[in-house]
Amino acid sequence: MIERLAEEHADARIALRFASPLELLVSVMLSAQTTDVNVNRVTERLFRKYRRPEDYLAVPVEELELDIYQTGFFRQKAKAIRGTMRMLLEEYDGRVPRRIEELVRLPGVARKTANVVAAELGDPQGVVVDTHVRRLSQRLGLTRQEDPVKVERDLTKLVPRAEWGIFPHLLIWHGRRVCNARAPRCEDCVLTDLCPSSRV
Ligand code: SF4
Repeated sequence: MIERLAEEHADARIALRFASPLELLVSVMLSAQTTDVNVNRVTERLFRKYRRPEDYLAVPVEELELDIYQTGFFRQKAKAIRGTMRMLLEEYDGRVPRRIEELVRLPGVARKTANVVAAELGDPQGVVVDTHVRRLSQRLGLTRQEDPVKVERDLTKLVPRAEWGIFPHLLIWHGRRVCNARAPRCEDCVLTDLCPSSRV
């Protein structure tokens, strides 16, 4: 499945735009409850103004809120970002840690965010499970679970560790392009002979 999906969606990768681990972390934090396109629109300006963890703490919180307003939930996000920047400075020398156990200690960083960051920094320590990954995994018969943590447990047993980073992107892109939630195009799918939900 992975080989076929990788061939079909050779361009599958994270849609967020970032140029450093710090920008990656902030982008993923901002992406909660909104689209990646929306986040990219906001971060294009944001990252020109805020380059180091100190920069997020050097302005009044209201200014940061205004700068990220368009991503929604701007008050919670601004609070989480500032708390995270403070901890990065106090405990990590201003650098973004790579281990999941460290990342989830940062204020407002949940397991999914930590998983995305670790994977994009080249050291995936789990499989990112969002609604698309869960839906596709269920359709493909890789899990029967609903709870993302249990879905992830099933996937980490099935997917080779080297593929943990790319696997969610492959499922997300396949879900967008072929296996749509309401009208899957099974006749055009490279997995028809392997998929228990195939309609052809
Ligand atoms: S065969 Fe159909 S249901 Fe299965 S993954 Fe492909 S498009 Fe989705």
